[in-house]
Amino acid sequence: MLGSTSKNQEISKLLETVVDGGYCIGCGACAAVVDSPIKMKLDEYGKLCATLSEPVVQTSHQISLGKVCPFSNEGLNEDQIAEEIFGKDCQYHNQIGYYLTTYAGFVSESDFRKLGSSGGMGNWIVTQLLSEGLVDGVIHVKPCTPSPTDPRLFKYQISKTIEEVRNGAKSRYYPIEISEVIQMLREQPGRYVIVGIPCFIKAIRLLMKQDPIIAERIKFCVGLICGHLKSIHFAQMFAWQGGIKPGDLLEFDFRYKLADRGANQYGMKAVGLKDGEVIECISPVRDLYGWDWGHGFFKYKACEYCDDVIAEAADIVVGDAWLPEYVNDSQGTNVVVVRNIVIQKLIEQGITAGNLHLNAITADKVAKSQASGLNHRREGLAYRLYLADKRGEWRPNKRVKAQISHLSRQLQKRQELRMKLGEESHIAFQKAIKAGQFSVFPKSMNFLVLQYQLTYPSTVLWKQFIQKCKKIY
Ligand SMILES: Cc1cc2nc3c(=O)[nH]c(=O)nc-3n(C[C@H](O)[C@H](O)[C@H](O)COP(=O)(O)OP(=O)(O)OC[C@H]3O[C@@H](n4cnc5c(N)ncnc54)[C@H](O)[C@@H]3O)c2cc1C
Ligand code: SF4
Ligand code: SF4
Repeated sequence: MLGSTSKNQEISKLLETVVDGGYCIGCGACAAVVDSPIKMKLDEYGKLCATLSEPVVQTSHQISLGKVCPFSNEGLNEDQIAEEIFGKDCQYHNQIGYYLTTYAGFVSESDFRKLGSSGGMGNWIVTQLLSEGLVDGVIHVKPCTPSPTDPRLFKYQISKTIEEVRNGAKSRYYPIEISEVIQMLREQPGRYVIVGIPCFIKAIRLLMKQDPIIAERIKFCVGLICGHLKSIHFAQMFAWQGGIKPGDLLEFDFRYKLADRGANQYGMKAVGLKDGEVIECISPVRDLYGWDWGHGFFKYKACEYCDDVIAEAADIVVGDAWLPEYVNDSQGTNVVVVRNIVIQKLIEQGITAGNLHLNAITADKVAKSQASGLNHRREGLAYRLYLADKRGEWRPNKRVKAQISHLSRQLQKRQELRMKLGEESHIAFQKAIKAGQFSVFPKSMNFLVLQYQLTYPSTVLWKQFIQKCKKIY
C-alpha cells in the first residue's frame, strides 16, 4: 500500500526522470495501473507519452508506477525478469538472451505468410494458441478508424476468433499503448496471449509482478524483434509522397510485399483522401524519401537508450531473417527464438504436420540477422550513455556500461548524427505540416543526412542518396 506522500514522491520522480527526460516510450503501463492518475496522449510530434490527468493528491492508485515502467530505475531489468522465467530450462546467449531453440523459416499452412510481414509466424503462433484452447483471446495491434479527435490508425485490441486474429497480421511501426486494452482485459476474464515489441513485453512482465489479475490472465507473451519505434509521422511521410496529406490518411500497410523484389525491398500501401476522393497508393519504400531505418527518422528518444533487441522477456520471439540466404525471397522469412516449452511443442507439431517450414539455426545466426540493431544497442548505446553521463543528466540504468574508448571518432560522430537525425525529423515534419508542403521536410533534413552519409566510406550509399534528392526537387 502506498501512502499519499510516497505516491506524490514516486509520481513526481517518474515524471521528472522518465517523462521530462524524454525517455517515455508511451507504452501505457503506468496508465494501466488501477486508478492511475496518468493518461496516454499523443504529443505535438505524434508520439504517445504519459501525462498527468488529475492532481496527484486525489489519486487512489495502490501500485507503484515506477515499478511497472520499462524505463524507470525502479523495476527489474530484462536479465532479472528472464532469468526467473526461463533460467531453469533455457540456455543463455549474450545477444539474444535465453533460448530453447532457434529457427529460420516460414509458415507453409494457409495464407499466414502471404498476410504477414515476414514469414507469418507472428500470427500463426497466436492462432495456434487460440485454436488449441490454450488462450481465450489474443491481444495485438490492429487497424482502427481514425476520427477528428483521435487520428490513430492502429491500436491494441483483443481478437477472440481466428478470423479476428487474421485481420491483425502485419507489423505496425506506429505509436501504440496498452492501458486501454489492459482495462478491457480486467473487464473480460479469460486467458490471453499478448504480442509486443521488447519494451512492451518488459512492461507487461513488470505489470504482472505487481498486479495479480494481469498475472493470472496473461498466459503467454509473444515478442517482435525491434529496431525502433516511429511516431505517427512515419506513415504520414510516405503517404504524403503519394498525394495523401497528413490528416487525410485512412489506412496504411508498412510491409506491402512486392513479388519482384527482395524481402527487404518491400512496399507501402496508403489509403486516404485526395481532392475529396478516396485513393490508394502503392510504392516500393526505397523509391520514397525517408525509407532508411538507419537514419532513424521519427524515432522515440527512448529507443536510443534501449538494450533489448530480441524481446528477452517473451516466451517466443519472431523477426525478419535479414540474412543473405533468405533476404532475396520476397515472400518473407522469419527468425524465431523459442523460450517456452508449451510453445516449443506447438512448433514441433507444426513442423511434423508440414504446416511450418522451419530449419534450426544457431543463436549466433539469429544475432547475425540483427547485427545492425545489436550494434546500435551495444557499442552505440555505450557511447550514448557516456554522453548522457557527461552532461550530468538522469538516464535509465542499462545492462550496457557507459564507454567512449571503443569507438573511433568517426563512429562517435555517426552515433551523434543518428540522435540528431531522430530529433530533427520530428521538428522538420512539424514545419512541413505547418507550411502545407512536403518538400520542407527533406530540405530541412538533407544537410544532416549528408553529414551522416559521410561517416560511411561507401560511395554507393552516397549515389543512392543524391539520386533520391534529385527526385524530390
Ligand atoms: C516497431 C517495430 C520494429 C521492428 N523492428 C524489427 C527489426 O529491427 N528487425 C526484425 O527482424 N524485425 C523487426 N520487427 C518485426 C517485424 O516487422 C515483424 O513484425 C516480424 O518479423 C513478424 O512478422 P510475421 O510475418 O511473423 O508476423 P505477422 O504474421 O505479420 O504477425 C504480426 C503480429 O504482430 C502484431 N503487431 C504488429 N505490430 C505490432 C506492434 N507494434 N506491437 C504489438 N504487436 C504488433 C500483429 O497484430 C500480429 O499479430 C519490428 C516490428 C515492429 C512493430
Ligand atoms: S510506463 Fe511507459 S508510458 Fe509510463 S512513463 Fe514509463 S515508458 Fe512512459
Ligand atoms: S527500440 Fe527498444 S525502446 Fe524502442 S520501441 Fe523497440 S524495444 Fe521499445
